[in-house]
Amino acid sequence: MSSQEDGDDTLDELLKDRARIEELPDNDEDEDGRPPFPGKHLKPKRKKNLPVWMSSATLSLFHEDDQTPSTEALAKTAAECLPYLTLEDTQGLPLNSHGLPHLRRKPHADFLRSCLGDLPAPYAAMDASRPWLFYWCIAGQSFLNEDVSSYKDRLIETVRPLQNPSGGFGGGHGQYSHCACTYATILALAAVDGLEVVDRKAMWHWLGQVKQPNGGFRMAANAEQDIRGAYCALTILTLLNLPLTLPPDSPARLTGNLDLFTDDLGTWISSCQSYEGGIAGAPGNEVHGAYAFCALACLCILDAPSRSIPAYLDVPLLTRWLASMQTTPEGGFAGRPNKLVDACYSHWVGACFALLEAARPPEEDTQEQHAIALTGQGLWNKAALVRYLLTCAQQPGKKGGMRDKPSARPDGYHTCYSLSGLSAAQHRYWYDGQRETEDEGGEESGRRLLAAFRWRGERGTAEEMRGLGVDEGDVVALVHPVFVLRFEAVEGARKRFAGGGL
Ligand SMILES: [Zn+2]
Repeated sequence: MSSQEDGDDTLDELLKDRARIEELPDNDEDEDGRPPFPGKHLKPKRKKNLPVWMSSATLSLFHEDDQTPSTEALAKTAAECLPYLTLEDTQGLPLNSHGLPHLRRKPHADFLRSCLGDLPAPYAAMDASRPWLFYWCIAGQSFLNEDVSSYKDRLIETVRPLQNPSGGFGGGHGQYSHCACTYATILALAAVDGLEVVDRKAMWHWLGQVKQPNGGFRMAANAEQDIRGAYCALTILTLLNLPLTLPPDSPARLTGNLDLFTDDLGTWISSCQSYEGGIAGAPGNEVHGAYAFCALACLCILDAPSRSIPAYLDVPLLTRWLASMQTTPEGGFAGRPNKLVDACYSHWVGACFALLEAARPPEEDTQEQHAIALTGQGLWNKAALVRYLLTCAQQPGKKGGMRDKPSARPDGYHTCYSLSGLSAAQHRYWYDGQRETEDEGGEESGRRLLAAFRWRGERGTAEEMRGLGVDEGDVVALVHPVFVLRFEAVEGARKRFAGGGL
């Protein structure tokens, strides 16, 4: 037991020992002029220029006495990340002008390139997910401003045998078509402007088979129904400009009496929001950050975010849930409550905020609020996410690539979504309502869902970039908040199929 004379006694220990509250003395202030906080269990070495959420006083606020497997794992992860977050250990990485590691552009691009070549034997488990590797590694390179056009012919020839005559893409030749594989294939093809290989008419028929009478979508014919299916299907329909009318043999039409792919979809998404505010894969299931992104992005395809999001979701409740997914002390995001920080949620949760911020009524959408959102004083702490990604998620050494957390290995999935999350922090996004008027009466009007094409984005100001602790070389490309592709790729798909038809 600590003695009272010990100057490092914590209030926690005093409380345990004496079961009464000790008031902190008025004149006992630390060097920063702030009153001391109790606790010393997470005390990094005092370093100058650390942001306030990295100060020992703040870190010590988050202390759990009750040990459970969850709290032990959380403490282990915090201990694993702290030396990097506080820059006690910079892993030999070159530092930028703010003292943070630079984004390792070339090693990350090399890593993504290498994942498109021969892979080690354990990747056999990914056989049914091959299109995901194409998307993560090609789109990820494009987020680093690498030219990916040279992949076009190779990608088209690789995915051609994955396309089924009855529509959609499987994970490999002879595999059933699946919404996730088809989504990843379409995005990868869009990234290289190679969508001509898609049989759009067959795709329309196949999507008609996965649309359900209750308004939702299955992941494949006779497979589970969940919110990933809804987001994937709407993305495919919109990028390819397929007719919104359901095919005659769609179960949604035959037994649900529905007419359009969009019928009853908002209501079905609404039923996935739980009492906690988060979004589940299907009604009554556990909520998860990635499903929140699917729900928000799907609603942003249906209509302007200020109309579609508040119409179907409890926005304050969802906002609170999403904000609570940013972890302390790491500053990244977890996918579920009491789970560990993981860099892939930089996208799945981090990208939700641009969509949510656009859900405000247009009259509230002032420049001042944009500025607040960018400097990290809004719904989430962007600087904290950037710090986590640059200090903890980058693989040091020759190999490159980004990883879930320091103890994990880098992979294409975490590299792609870390870069996308970095983009969400470095840019501001808004829905350009002005384009609604311009689109009226245009060629695509009345046929295509155009809302998701009306998003705009721009990099923060130099001052805002300083606030995030990034130099010019650490800034990634502007990633579309709904389609998770470069804006140029989205625009290319819009123009290619502007005429519609099958
Ligand atoms: Zn992950």
